[in-house]
Amino acid sequence: MKDKSIITISTINGTRGFHLAPWHFKTFKIVSALIVFFFLALTINLFELSDKMDQVTLSENQLISQANKLQHQLISQENTLQGTITDLSDEKLELKQDINQRDSMLDKFYTRLNNLENYLEGDSSLNDTKQNLGASESIDSRLNAATINSALRINFLRNVPNGSPVKKARLSSQFGYRTHPVTKKRKKHRGLDFAVNTGTPIYATADGVVEMARKSNLGSGNFLRIQHSHGFSSSFSHMKSFKAHSGQFVEKGQLIGYSGNTGMSSGPHLHYEIRFVGRALDPLNFVRWNNDNFDTIYEKEKGIKWDYLVQKQEQQINIQLQLLSQLDAALLVQSN
Ligand SMILES: [Zn+2]
Repeated sequence: MKDKSIITISTINGTRGFHLAPWHFKTFKIVSALIVFFFLALTINLFELSDKMDQVTLSENQLISQANKLQHQLISQENTLQGTITDLSDEKLELKQDINQRDSMLDKFYTRLNNLENYLEGDSSLNDTKQNLGASESIDSRLNAATINSALRINFLRNVPNGSPVKKARLSSQFGYRTHPVTKKRKKHRGLDFAVNTGTPIYATADGVVEMARKSNLGSGNFLRIQHSHGFSSSFSHMKSFKAHSGQFVEKGQLIGYSGNTGMSSGPHLHYEIRFVGRALDPLNFVRWNNDNFDTIYEKEKGIKWDYLVQKQEQQINIQLQLLSQLDAALLVQSN
C-alpha cells in the first residue's frame, strides 16, 4: 500500500477510485515541467519576436521616409533637368538659326566671289597670281587674287587713258601714215580724229593733271594736254574752248573743254593723241579698252613693259592688303 496512492472521483453516479503507482507521479511531474518550460520558452520567444517586429516596423518607416525624400529629390532634379533641357533646346534653336544665317551669308559670299572671278576671267596673260593657284587654292588666296586683280584694274582704268573722250562719234582719220588733208603730204598721223561738230563736250579719259591748255591759231590750234600716271599723257587739238586750266587736277570723265576747228584743220573735228613718255601710241587701242577686254591692251601695246607695271601694282596692293589684315587682327585683339 505504501507504494501506491488512490485518487477518488465522486460524481452523482457514485464514487470511483483510481490506483496510481509512483512512476505515474514522476511522469506527471516531468510532463508538467516540460509543459511549463515549453510555455516559458514560447512567451520569451513571443516577446523577442514582438521586439524584432517593432524594430522591423521602425526601420521600415525609416526606409519609407528615406525613399520619400529620395523621390522628392529626384522629382526636383527632374524638374531642374527639364528646365535645363528647355533652355538647351531654345539655345539649340537659336544656334540653328544663327548657323542658317551664316550659311546663307557664306552662300552669298561664295556667289559674289564666283561672280567676281567670272567677271575677272579671261585675264590669262597677266593674272599670274590666279593662274599659279592650283585646284587646292584656299579661300584666302582666291580672295587675295580677286582683290589684287580688281584693284589692279580699278587702278589702271582710273589712271591710264581708256574709253572715248567724246560721246558717239564717228572716226574720220586713223593713227598711222596718211596723206595730210591740208598739206597733201604723206606723213604719220600721230592721233585719232573724231568727226564731231564744234562745241562737242570733251571728257578726260583718265585721272591726271593738265600740263598745258594753250590757245593758238596755228598747228594744233587750241591745245590741251593731260599728264597721267605710269608715264602716259593724252592731248586734244583744234579745241574751241577749255574747261580746265594748266596745273588743274582732273578726273576720268570730267569735262575739260569743247571741240572746235582751230589751228591747221580742214573741218570741225577732235584730234586725240595718247603718248607714253613722249612716244605716240595708237589711241584706238585705248579708246576700245575697257573692263570687258582688259587684257587685250597688253597684246595690242607690246611696246610698254606692262609686266613691270603690273608687278609693281600687285606689290603695292599686296602691301595694302597686308596692312589691312594687320589692322583687322589688331582690332580683333582689341575687341577681345
Ligand atoms: Zn588728226
